[in-house]
Amino acid sequence: RVVLGIETSCDDTGAAVVNEKGVILGEALHSQKEVHLRTGGIIPTVAQQLHRENIGLVVQEALERSGVDPSQLSAVATTVKPGMALSLAVGLEFSQSFVRKFSKPFIPIHHMEAHALTVRMLHPITFPFLVLLVSGGHSLLAVAQGVDDFVLLGHSLDEAPGDTLDKIARRLSLRKHPQCTTLSGGQAIELLAESGDRMRFPLTTPMGQTQDCCFSFAGLRNQVTMMIVKREAEEGIEQGTLLSCVNDIAAATQHTVAAHLAKRTHRAILFCKANGLLPSKSPTLVLSGGVASNQYIRKALTVITDMTGLHLLCPPAKFCTDNGVMIAWNGVERLREGKGILPPNVDVFYEPKAPLGMDMTAEVKAAAIRLPP
Ligand code: ATP
Ligand code: FE
Repeated sequence: RVVLGIETSCDDTGAAVVNEKGVILGEALHSQKEVHLRTGGIIPTVAQQLHRENIGLVVQEALERSGVDPSQLSAVATTVKPGMALSLAVGLEFSQSFVRKFSKPFIPIHHMEAHALTVRMLHPITFPFLVLLVSGGHSLLAVAQGVDDFVLLGHSLDEAPGDTLDKIARRLSLRKHPQCTTLSGGQAIELLAESGDRMRFPLTTPMGQTQDCCFSFAGLRNQVTMMIVKREAEEGIEQGTLLSCVNDIAAATQHTVAAHLAKRTHRAILFCKANGLLPSKSPTLVLSGGVASNQYIRKALTVITDMTGLHLLCPPAKFCTDNGVMIAWNGVERLREGKGILPPNVDVFYEPKAPLGMDMTAEVKAAAIRLPP
């Protein structure tokens, strides 16, 4: 079995050919990040235009590198939800005409499910397992019980942690910081935090009074912004020119994000244990998404998994961010189980909003699990 995977849900045009054993036969990725950085955010129509310009080439490249002819493909898998409507539309339209042209089965993919399952391409890990997905667009805790069977324990009530770090980095103009010119917001904050004192500007960990597994980062961003404004006023300097204490601010921010993620994850683990949602033999937490590359956050989660007897798995950074490989792999998993495979001529629609699995966030909240101090 060989699957072509196509991803266009946000700002990356990705394609990959992956076989049943999880071997990546060929892949190609076109990132729009630099373009969107210049405009200070993603403009949907611009993203769509760039996907349109690149998708043909990206798919062709992935196929050529794999040495697999379209006629040899077992199926085409494409992200159809959730994501930006205009971006999803490009991948879906391309894929539907592709499967019709070559008479191939079509497998619609849920972007977050694909993120959650990528780990199985790299490690022989069986269901069920707990997943923490933290990126620029998402923040969620879920139990993966099967290829198309997920239980949602928590999600962000406002923004995602990567987005928060990016916005704080932008407020501090970290792109102008000599050490950070080419780094993403999250990477810049991690680097500066290494030489910062996190105790100098104490921040409150979000949602301390709410005993559930949901996340909130907007309040934290507000706390940090107010702190920056205050320092700028004290030093009598212009907005975005603070230099004296950016390391300490970065350290405090990173620590608070890590503490929030760790606490929610700790409660999710306790909830899973109390409700038999994880196996008693080698239960696992999978950490993925762009923010998962942060070593400080990984360490904070290691403390929790060590304390609760879980095994922590974190795929390499390349597999934590958006790419065609994870979509192709999800296609392989679905093909293997015969789940969600459509004939080429069926019309499929994209869904910008799509929850992940069965929502149990209310049950988690009702359980009101207290964390040990
Ligand atoms: P999504 O995958 O949800 O659609 P995305 O494309 O923005 O969103 P990713 O590409 O997975 O997400 O990750 C990018 C995000 O990860 C950015 O917000 C970036 O700041 C953050 N990030 C990258 N490296 C680090 C790091 N070392 N520490 C913290 N955050 C990081
Ligand atoms: Fe993603």
